[in-house]
Amino acid sequence: MKAGICGLCKKSGIIKKSHLLPKSAYKQVRDHPSEGGGSPMIVDMARNKFGKTDKQVDAHFLCGNCESVFSKFGEAPVSKIWATHFDFPMLDILNKITPISISTKRKLYKSDQLDGDLARALYYFAVSVVWRAIEWPRTNVGVVSCKGVLNVDQMREVTQFLLGNISVVDDLFIVLDVNTCSEMTGMLSMPARFAADLESLLFDVLGLRFMVFVGPGFPLEIETLRTTYDRNLLVTSSDHSESRFAMQIAKYLNENNIQ
Ligand SMILES: [Zn+2]
Repeated sequence: MKAGICGLCKKSGIIKKSHLLPKSAYKQVRDHPSEGGGSPMIVDMARNKFGKTDKQVDAHFLCGNCESVFSKFGEAPVSKIWATHFDFPMLDILNKITPISISTKRKLYKSDQLDGDLARALYYFAVSVVWRAIEWPRTNVGVVSCKGVLNVDQMREVTQFLLGNISVVDDLFIVLDVNTCSEMTGMLSMPARFAADLESLLFDVLGLRFMVFVGPGFPLEIETLRTTYDRNLLVTSSDHSESRFAMQIAKYLNENNIQ
């Protein structure tokens, strides 16, 4: 047990060990016991490091109350739909919905086609991971590139949202891209900037790729998506093995003889 000041609500008391990405996700990226139960595959994009490690990114950071709020509104519902060794409920959900747009690479869904609680949980989860990455109390864990993505006023708004005082963060636009390639779902990637010229972060949790764009001035194509479909959250599906990011990982595994 450790006493201190909670990173979110700023109250002093007992501070819990918090995880940057959900602890429950790590056991799903570990090899299945029938395949030896080897260490999980973790990707640290900002430092260009990929590899198998048992090291979880944790720190004494939040009070018990804020931890349980994060769990109740984000992690718990999202953990029910991410990919496991056995199934991928989120992909099943999308496969039962008619996309509003289909291109060769991607299907597009509006968040109001999802159950309202699920859409809110996906949004809350994404915002909570982004907040953690920016405010994380340690600097040696590969999320340094996230610092400064949001300005002081935007961080204040994010905090108010996470504490339940406002319902959305106006300057954030979140795209959840659900992976359709079953070999690529067992992966976690730490939040990192994904384009130098854009205020945006990306992270992967078990087949769910969250792309978080920061306004208020969005690039034209993002603003078009917002005005056409939804100002806060859009859901797409695509084959992540065809992304540039996947190619890099495959190359790494190959070079290092990791099967
Ligand atoms: Zn707290």
